[in-house]
Amino acid sequence: MSMIHDDPADFAEDSASGFADLYSSRLRAVPGGVVRRHRATESKVSIIFGGGSGHYPAFAGLVGPGLGDGAVMGNIFTSPSTAQAYSVGRATDTRRGVIYCYGNYAGDVMNFGLAGDRLTSEGIDARQVIVTDDIASSPAEAAEDRRGIAGDLVVYKVLGAAAEKGLDIDEVERLGNHANARTFTLGVAFTGCTFPGAKEPLFTVPKGKMGLGMGIHGEPGLRDVDWVPATELAGILVDRLLEERPADVTGRVGVIVNGLGRTKYEELFLLYGRIAPRLRDAGLEIVAPEVGELVTSLDMGGVSLTLVWLDDELEELWLAPANSPAFRRGSVEEGVEEDEARSTTDATDVPIVAVVGSGDSIAAAGIAVAALAAMRNVLEEHEGQLGDLDAVAGDGDHGRGMTRGVRHAHDAAERAHGAGWGMAGVLGAAGDAWGEFAGGTSGVLWGAGMRSFGDALGNETAVTGENVLAAVHSYLDALVSLGHAEVGDKTLVDAVVPFLAELEEQLGRGEGLAIAWASAASRAQKAADATSTLSPKKGRARPLAERSVGSPDPGAISFAMVVGAVVGVLAND
Ligand code: ADP
Ligand code: MG
Repeated sequence: MSMIHDDPADFAEDSASGFADLYSSRLRAVPGGVVRRHRATESKVSIIFGGGSGHYPAFAGLVGPGLGDGAVMGNIFTSPSTAQAYSVGRATDTRRGVIYCYGNYAGDVMNFGLAGDRLTSEGIDARQVIVTDDIASSPAEAAEDRRGIAGDLVVYKVLGAAAEKGLDIDEVERLGNHANARTFTLGVAFTGCTFPGAKEPLFTVPKGKMGLGMGIHGEPGLRDVDWVPATELAGILVDRLLEERPADVTGRVGVIVNGLGRTKYEELFLLYGRIAPRLRDAGLEIVAPEVGELVTSLDMGGVSLTLVWLDDELEELWLAPANSPAFRRGSVEEGVEEDEARSTTDATDVPIVAVVGSGDSIAAAGIAVAALAAMRNVLEEHEGQLGDLDAVAGDGDHGRGMTRGVRHAHDAAERAHGAGWGMAGVLGAAGDAWGEFAGGTSGVLWGAGMRSFGDALGNETAVTGENVLAAVHSYLDALVSLGHAEVGDKTLVDAVVPFLAELEEQLGRGEGLAIAWASAASRAQKAADATSTLSPKKGRARPLAERSVGSPDPGAISFAMVVGAVVGVLAND
């Protein structure tokens, strides 16, 4: 449990500002994260790490020569927004291109992907290297679905060293993906972790057990197994990892024994002392092993073992020098102090184009603002419940993300409406604010969905059943094109699709919008409840699919709440 905080809601930001002050001689804070204060003398490919906070030293503690050029810092366990990722990428670019590297989580994939698209549209070559080392989270046949955990460090190290050598972006990207393909991790949890300010941990491990295959966002182990002494634990981790030994190995392996936040270094050393002989007995030679806290999960008790199967090119990069606040190897030069003015980019400085609406559209936008206020009330009221639902198999942040998103969206909508904007303008501003501040997968989806909903309505027309139907279609299209979820995958799409079908049916029958919407909302509620029986195929709950069966999908439930809250608003108008 964290004992040091002011307002727990500001924990990540407050901690980041202390970190930036502490390391101000080598790092510089930019909107969205930190970047190196010194630049390499030659221009090079920029390597950006990122993800939510709560994993220190990942990700900001790994910025420095031989490692990252910048880190994007989201809220605790929550993907940074597209704007944050874009801002950090932009601030580090030296015209050789930018590679974003992060663990495989839907929110990160979407936000870093969109940030990359934005850089590309501005003529900056941007690539994505996604880490998938957690062997417990999917079978080997579906290795691309695996989560990224402590193996992040290996891929970061290889990318950082390759970029520092001055290689071009194709080659750096190839080496990063190659490192990922040869990196495998398995971990166990002994105790859960607790959000700053929270009273209860996100999960608990039953007495006398350990959670095998833990995640790094408060996802519990995939399976509780009996606690075993260190020698046996070493055996479980090593044997399972050796089962995934690639075909063409040299017999040389990099090794990381990683503590999750609350496990003592002495315990980690002890475990290493049991792991190393077992690897040597298997005929392997250990190269530059690392033992310590490298990728943590708040104050979780637990440990993971990572193996990277080295070949000549990977070994050179694994051994190359690096110097960051939390990871050092050999010695490297700092480079030259950079011209601050040149690269300070404030993503929020982008000028906003006014979108003045027709009288009809301004009136419609007033209804949208009222609808957002109703959504805000219902989400604030149920924040705890949504968090609990997400903690069953996900990371527990859904309530927090939705309330942060809707608050900022409502404020932005109010401002835009006050300035005489039409429906598309108001919902566009609301959606952007939602995506920017909510974090997480649902934040990107709601942000993009709301913008699309508004675009379909435009800034001229009044609200009619027909164009609201088209707008809900656009909302769904935006969700699907970003998240690729299908009906049955146990996501909010399972509530949106029946909602839309019912709306269409009722309107087709000649019902007015308010009645049709009400009927669609109750259908969405039933569909959301019915997701209980499903097993998740997308998102953070997927690796713990079985645990999720029996409780509904948090995103589907929050969708039903939100459309339910709008019923009253439409009835009044
Ligand atoms: P995160 O999963 O990043 O922690 P949230 O907890 O806020 O984000 O949201 C989780 C919800 O997001 C899930 O319950 C599900 O409804 C939805 N979701 C996750 N992945 C997808 C996806 N690929 N497509 C559609 N919805 C998704
Ligand atoms: Mg979540």
